[in-house]
Amino acid sequence: MKTAEIAQRYLEYFERNGHVIVPSASLVTDDPALLFTVAGMVPFIPYLSGNVPAPYARAADVQKCIRTNDIEEVGKTPRHGTFFQMLGNWSFGDYFKEGAITYAWDFLTGAEADGKLGFDPKDLWVTVYEEDDEAFELWKRIAGLSEDRIHRLGKDTNYWSTGLPGPAGPCSEIFFDRGPEYGIDGGPATDDDRYVEIWNLVFMQYAIEDVRSKYDFRIVGELPNKNIDTGMGLERVAFIKQGVDNMYETDQVRPVLDRAVELSGRRYGADHEDDVRFRIIADHIRSSLMLLSDGVTPSNEGRGYILRRLMRRAIRSMRLLGVDGPTFPDLFPASRDAMRDAYPIVAEDYARLSAYAYAEEATFLRTLAAGSVILDASLEATKDAGGTALAGDEAFLLHDTYGFPIDLTLEIAEEAGLSVDRAAFDTLMQEQRARAKADARSRKRALADLSVYRDLRLKGETVFTGYTDLETESSVL
Ligand code: ATP
Ligand code: MG
Ligand code: MG
Ligand code: MG
Repeated sequence: MKTAEIAQRYLEYFERNGHVIVPSASLVTDDPALLFTVAGMVPFIPYLSGNVPAPYARAADVQKCIRTNDIEEVGKTPRHGTFFQMLGNWSFGDYFKEGAITYAWDFLTGAEADGKLGFDPKDLWVTVYEEDDEAFELWKRIAGLSEDRIHRLGKDTNYWSTGLPGPAGPCSEIFFDRGPEYGIDGGPATDDDRYVEIWNLVFMQYAIEDVRSKYDFRIVGELPNKNIDTGMGLERVAFIKQGVDNMYETDQVRPVLDRAVELSGRRYGADHEDDVRFRIIADHIRSSLMLLSDGVTPSNEGRGYILRRLMRRAIRSMRLLGVDGPTFPDLFPASRDAMRDAYPIVAEDYARLSAYAYAEEATFLRTLAAGSVILDASLEATKDAGGTALAGDEAFLLHDTYGFPIDLTLEIAEEAGLSVDRAAFDTLMQEQRARAKADARSRKRALADLSVYRDLRLKGETVFTGYTDLETESSVL
């Protein structure tokens, strides 16, 4: 079952059950404090918080997501992408726990011939919040699960709140058991490699106040309008349904991995470290493609910096696989062709977004070439002198003068069996920041002086002759 078909079945199922189908929001949020859409709920926050009345009682969607906090997991676990798609069904004051559990179970275990997913109930486990007896009983009754298949877990995994006064409530999650070859037989809380979380059902039930932390607050009562928020990982369901080992081997991601394998001349499945790199490349190329198609461009801060890091990490991984030249002109088209059916924009806008990607690669390859020569020499010299750590000022010089990222320095040093004097590096970075701040302050003072003249000029009292030059300069500060 192709990834797109699973998404299609999901939307059709919930449409048949009275849900309005809503298109995915952009990966770029309206909220400057939140860089990216990290979950299906993000675009629905105004409705879920009760600030804006929802225009429908039930909705369903496939939401594009980016989670940079999962970046270290990518390629190592089978289930973490920096880009992924979250299937969601929503109830705004309409159905609650019973409805959400009924739909989830029916869609997962109903027959494929009826447009559902055809999971075998004996492969599924669920968790509920430890105090949520209601959900526990519903799972027993609706799904016919025996009690040992329903694990009660604490707030850290099975409670949702924003950390602010407002709605909160318990969660219930559904897991797929991949079988004894993946780990021990103890249920979801024991082994997340064997038991893969596929679906999170959030029951927004309470109003909370006196919030001291995300999990420390006072419940002031039941919400008058209880909401349902669910999130199912499309790639996770896809890899299970496709009978492959992980999400990077599904139809929307694997073609990039295969292309990377071809370019490297190595084999996938022969060496664990290499395999992780192939998976990182496949993931990061796709995430970059999707970010570019939502209007993010590489830069040194904010969203653009995340995009830059993803592309650079893919390039670095290709180098570690022995490929030094440009690879984006091969990898991006492979990702485009795997994603274009679901997101036609990646093909329609390809000229623009590939121009950014290819230019970024060319620039970074030049940086790498220059920096690597210097770093290799420093590492050699450190070793020759019997040292175990690269000096902080050398790492800083690479960063400051050559634009060679510290994460790369750390990685390359580690491969050479050395550490980096991180404390010294951090001190130098702080000093540099302090200098930059002082510079900015003195520039501001200059501007303040300038504004005196501007005020005067506006009053028509005098004309400051050096004005035009200063004005030009100040506008680029
Ligand atoms: P995990 O514990 O496996 O990291 P999570 O609890 O962080 O998952 P949720 O925040 O509950 O995930 O998100 C809802 C669903 O979205 C998950 O059940 C999973 O199917 C999917 N999902 C979450 N993070 C990722 C990711 N990085 N890549 C792919 N799918 C994901
Ligand atoms: Mg997670
Ligand atoms: Mg989880
Ligand atoms: Mg979860």
